[in-house]
Amino acid sequence: GLLDLRPTTTTTTTCGYCGVGCTLDVHVRDGAVAAITPTHRAPVNRGHACIKGRFAHTFSRADDRLTAPLVRRGDQLVETTWDEALSTIANRLTSIRDEHGPDAIAMISSARATNEENYLAQKFLRTAIGTNSIDNCSRLCHSPSAAGLTASFGLAGGTNPLDDLDRTDCVLLAGANPSEAHPVVGARIKQRVMAGARLIVIDPRRTELASLADVHLQARPGSNVAVFNAIARVLIEEGHLDRDFIEQRTTSFNDLAQLVQENRLDHAAEIASVRAADLVEAARLFGRAQHPAIVYGLGITEHAHGTDGVRALANLALLRGSVGTPKGCGILPLRGQNNVQGASDMGALPDLLPGYQPVTDAAVRDRFAARWGGALPGRPGLRIPQMFDAAISGELRALHVIGEDVAHSDPNANHVRSALRACDFVVCQDIFLSHTAELADVVLPAASFLEKDGTFVNFDRRFQRVRPALIPPGQSATDFTIVHRIAEAMGVDLGCRTPAEALAECASLTPIFAGLSHQRLDAEGPLHWPCQTPDRPGSAVLYLNGFATPDGRAAFAARPYLPPGEEPDAQYPYTLITGRRLEHYNTGSMTRRTQNTELLPGEALELHPSDAAHLGVVEGTDVTVTSRWGQATLAAHVTRDVAPGQVFTSFHFPHAAVNRLTSPHTDAVTGCPEYKVTAVDIGAGTSR
Ligand code: SF4
Repeated sequence: GLLDLRPTTTTTTTCGYCGVGCTLDVHVRDGAVAAITPTHRAPVNRGHACIKGRFAHTFSRADDRLTAPLVRRGDQLVETTWDEALSTIANRLTSIRDEHGPDAIAMISSARATNEENYLAQKFLRTAIGTNSIDNCSRLCHSPSAAGLTASFGLAGGTNPLDDLDRTDCVLLAGANPSEAHPVVGARIKQRVMAGARLIVIDPRRTELASLADVHLQARPGSNVAVFNAIARVLIEEGHLDRDFIEQRTTSFNDLAQLVQENRLDHAAEIASVRAADLVEAARLFGRAQHPAIVYGLGITEHAHGTDGVRALANLALLRGSVGTPKGCGILPLRGQNNVQGASDMGALPDLLPGYQPVTDAAVRDRFAARWGGALPGRPGLRIPQMFDAAISGELRALHVIGEDVAHSDPNANHVRSALRACDFVVCQDIFLSHTAELADVVLPAASFLEKDGTFVNFDRRFQRVRPALIPPGQSATDFTIVHRIAEAMGVDLGCRTPAEALAECASLTPIFAGLSHQRLDAEGPLHWPCQTPDRPGSAVLYLNGFATPDGRAAFAARPYLPPGEEPDAQYPYTLITGRRLEHYNTGSMTRRTQNTELLPGEALELHPSDAAHLGVVEGTDVTVTSRWGQATLAAHVTRDVAPGQVFTSFHFPHAAVNRLTSPHTDAVTGCPEYKVTAVDIGAGTSR
């Protein structure tokens, strides 16, 4: 068509897809997005954006957006008024709480929602209901990062800003495919490698960056701890150590040294299915670098020993003294969702109040209670996987889900659906009728990130402003407004009437955010936490003056390799890995309603040519994938990007139903599911 030259209004906001947190200019005409362009002077993306942030916006005016509340009548969800929806929720939650106690109610808050919405949601659950059973999807992705980085260094976030990648001379990229999942970071790494930095990639798949690497350790899924310990062994044996740093700023070095000495290199190589010489080469590249950077993703955390993996990786930074000093570029976890860091920062966690302050600490509870009014529950609540188990056993009666499609995205999906059906009452807030919403008793129409005011925290701990470019369609409302309305229907005033007031209240109760406000972010631009006072800048680089541990020292961890929850055997001889694609995002509920679907209309199962030949499968034929937990049918994609014996697919498409396959095994420390290792069998043909 002709170029439309009518004027647009432009709003600068933060991308609602991945955790990179690109700043975008949203151009609106006639109440709909006309175009999105990356903001040129943005500190994170510097004028760059990927095809999700830039082009995947038509979901916002899709015909099937939820625009009115729905209530269940028999088998049907039917449109209703806000008054009826709210009084149903208030009556059911109140009667369940009075009859079965507050712990019979749980909430899954949203890593897609703003900080202010998460703050309000956890305040609602802890005050109006009286339970700590709130969690967010970081449980399913980076809870091992929070636990591991806190135990090693003191705080639950990456240690250095993205810009430090511009001066690194060696990137160790582990368990991440940023070219597809975090494209703006992927491009920054690629540029740095083109400029001469060395690249070590540890990944079972041959990703784009793996194909550019000096060393690609194509380690078997589940073998991370063995690989990192082997690299530690070479660093120690060959003396690639910062001895002053280790002596002055760390503890427990000898424990690690003893452990890795007991683990032979050829044994680690066998566990990981890599060559011992490549382990040595990777260690030497990392050991000789002046400013080494570690970047990692869910290939490290989503394992039965994910927290051990994070700690074993953190050991490598400590051996080189490359964290908490100007000498190194630290360790950067690539957060998946736009605000998964912020949802945890805001206390949407069953054991932690905002700013990672423990609910078990009476002094902390008293401080919050004095501001919020009334006593707070001191017993930690349920984690997400525990919520489903408790629903099946009858202990949990009601579940309130904000902006998460747990029936699609969580592992062992058959179990999750049974749990949702077992609840007496399920409330969903969402922008579309998700698989979870289809099973709910009341569904409330929510606003998308393009219609919200607030802040997100990106993967390098930056608070960034989110501003409304559009008006929420129909009767839909922001999650902030919805939580307020539910509380009011229960006779509770949550205070903080605006998002700005919510962040101000959070800052007044949370030392690491004390210097933050909307006003300041509008005037100064993004700010990193910790940010303790309004007159000081945030802390882009952590630990320059000591680690945030009780003794001020970072802690080495001696973690032995332990096998994953399940391994291939005679009945299930292949290992399934799940991950992301460039064109789509998570459950695909947004990107599948955009033109990105023309670029990638469906999903396939990647398998190696030798396995395809063995199975008698050719490109495009349907294969049936069976695990101990469920079954799915996918078209085969024959590629050497996966190793023999391993298969890969994404979780973006409901037709693939990949999470019917994934197992209930979880990280021993945090309960994070083991999405990255499922033993499966593959049969030619279809079960459809
Ligand atoms: Fe959005 Fe992430 Fe793409 Fe940036 S890299 S535009 S934050 S999806």
